[in-house]
Amino acid sequence: RGDKADFDSETQSVCPFCGVGCLVSLKVKDGRIAHVEGINGPANEGRLCVKGRFGFDYIHHEHRLTKPLIRRTDAPPKGLNVDPGNLSTHFREASWDEALDAAAGGLGGLRTAHGGRSVAGFGSAKCTNEEAYLFQKLIREGFGHNNVDHCTRLCHASSVAALLENVGSGAVTATFNEIENADVAIVIGANPVENHPVAATYFKQFAKRGGKLIVMDPRGIGLRSFASHMLQFRPGTDVAMLNAIMATIVEEGLYDEAYIAQRTENWEAEKAHLADFAPEKMAKICGIDAATLRDVARTFAGAKAGMIFWGMGVSQHIHGTDNSRCLISLALMCGHVGRPGTGLHPLRGQNNVQGASDAGLIPMFLPDYQSVTDDGLRQRFTELWGSEDFGDQKGLTVTEILDDVHAGRIRGMYILGENPAMSDPDVEHAREALAKLEHLVVQDIFLTETANFADVILPASALYEKAGTVSNTNRQVQMVRPALAPPGEAREDWAITMELARKLGLDWRYTHPREVFTEMKITMSSLDNITWERLERESVTYPSLSEQDPGQAVVFGDGFPREGGRAKFTPAAIIAPDEAPDEEYPMVMTTGRQLEHWHTGSMTRRSKVLDSVEPEANCSLHPATLRKLGVEPGGMVRLSTRRGSIEIMARSDRAVSPDMVFVPFAYVEAAANVLTNPALDPYGKIPEFKFSAVRVEPA
Ligand code: SF4
Repeated sequence: RGDKADFDSETQSVCPFCGVGCLVSLKVKDGRIAHVEGINGPANEGRLCVKGRFGFDYIHHEHRLTKPLIRRTDAPPKGLNVDPGNLSTHFREASWDEALDAAAGGLGGLRTAHGGRSVAGFGSAKCTNEEAYLFQKLIREGFGHNNVDHCTRLCHASSVAALLENVGSGAVTATFNEIENADVAIVIGANPVENHPVAATYFKQFAKRGGKLIVMDPRGIGLRSFASHMLQFRPGTDVAMLNAIMATIVEEGLYDEAYIAQRTENWEAEKAHLADFAPEKMAKICGIDAATLRDVARTFAGAKAGMIFWGMGVSQHIHGTDNSRCLISLALMCGHVGRPGTGLHPLRGQNNVQGASDAGLIPMFLPDYQSVTDDGLRQRFTELWGSEDFGDQKGLTVTEILDDVHAGRIRGMYILGENPAMSDPDVEHAREALAKLEHLVVQDIFLTETANFADVILPASALYEKAGTVSNTNRQVQMVRPALAPPGEAREDWAITMELARKLGLDWRYTHPREVFTEMKITMSSLDNITWERLERESVTYPSLSEQDPGQAVVFGDGFPREGGRAKFTPAAIIAPDEAPDEEYPMVMTTGRQLEHWHTGSMTRRSKVLDSVEPEANCSLHPATLRKLGVEPGGMVRLSTRRGSIEIMARSDRAVSPDMVFVPFAYVEAAANVLTNPALDPYGKIPEFKFSAVRVEPA
């Protein structure tokens, strides 16, 4: 650890992994980060998890991309076959000028030959707000349409769809730290001990102080030892379980009549709908007995202040929007939104997925969720940018864009920091699409699985090498500062996107992210009272009511941002998962993350400490299931779905039920997404990662 004197410099920034947004101090010695410590940020108060504390060394990995690359004309066919230690079999090094000319020439050539819609873009929630803003601006201004998206489509798109529909805003209504003021909290479909570890410390402290923690998940996740109630329900039955809880609240008259009358609409329809969901009837479907469902209803409705937290176990279903609608209705009927210790909080995944969505990196909304279908709103942007109209059609989402590649309508892509060759459902379909592209420009820090398919690779910067702002799950906007320069010839992402825009003929002249932030503020009222200078001094939660206001931890105390100021109940019916287990595929597979690995593993698998702790692809099966298969813990199993098969090491884990298998998706050698189902939720367009019918056999 050492003293300050042991380091050459010390820089304050934000952890690059999860949406908690822990503030860190980066201590540099001899041009390398030598030590990372948590500092007193609003979300972490000095705490860090193992990823933030030890997972920084990926930025010094020998496989960092340090020079622009162009695919060789004599390269073998595109596919996952490039050795990152010997790129020269597929790519040749190029100057920035040559690489940017090649990137712009390819994408611009398609625009000329086939129209702007032949090119689409995936930006990244790993980048800053300014970079997300520039990326969506490049696609909209440069190619004249809205086919731009990022990984929010794969995590909380359905939660955001339900929140926008019923509350009027896609962000959390209260910070997770507000749990300090709650007396009951529900955590459903989230595993914060592994995925939002510092947030989990606040949840544990809440329970230790006597708060009632109601945990609901098909897996017996880590928080269960702190829970007053653990509801391990059958996968895919969220709506049945939540409607049963709400039906009890109605039947027993536990709802907040005054709040419902003053603050909401459509209550009568919700009430009538719930009459069919008595707990005694739903118990058989969700696997939770009626007495427990009734007890949970009484506990949550009887609380003075209750909060609901949820994760991708809720959102990644074809009924993900319905799951979130239920959670919103549950909070509203109990009056648990808009006061201290109350609120709705989808725990955001990637460090800047909130900010990237706010900045307009989504196909249906411009910055600050201003609809692309509204002529007046679009005109604000075309006037500001001096651009042509980019059309009133909502753009295509992540999976739809790749479908359009297969259909031959999209021929070129610009992908910044995303890894669809690992992250998309039915990933072979995604890889075939990437191979089919006539021109693919990838901007990243490593030769990701997606970069294997690129025509031009632009070497980019890690978060600790750049300046800008990011917004965490709590709506806190925080400053990112460079501790080091990018290695070799690599550049900051905003600068690369700007140079590419200029090569494509756009008159962009930014010299620093600060200027981008200033432009964002013109159309984003969420940033009112938040200036670059202020962020240099402190983190600010939006909305901030004045330059002295640290920001509103709890919102909607005086009305909702919907017409009439009321939130809405939207009843949700039971929709079965897209594919039911059958004789051929008799078990249920669910996917997720592990404490040590982050998303597709492109960073954490290159971190020595983290990859030493979790070096091997693994899945979790109940000990009884392993016995039945005749497989020892640590032995290999073959998992097969209608999309494909993988072989993977099996762990014994009582937290999964005997008819389930849990598979982390960070491992390319046994990629979980070879197996997952691409069926989409109709509103959020999110794939059903959390439920696939699977066959498990000894390998
Ligand atoms: Fe980083 Fe999230 Fe861990 Fe905090 S909780 S250190 S933001 S990974």
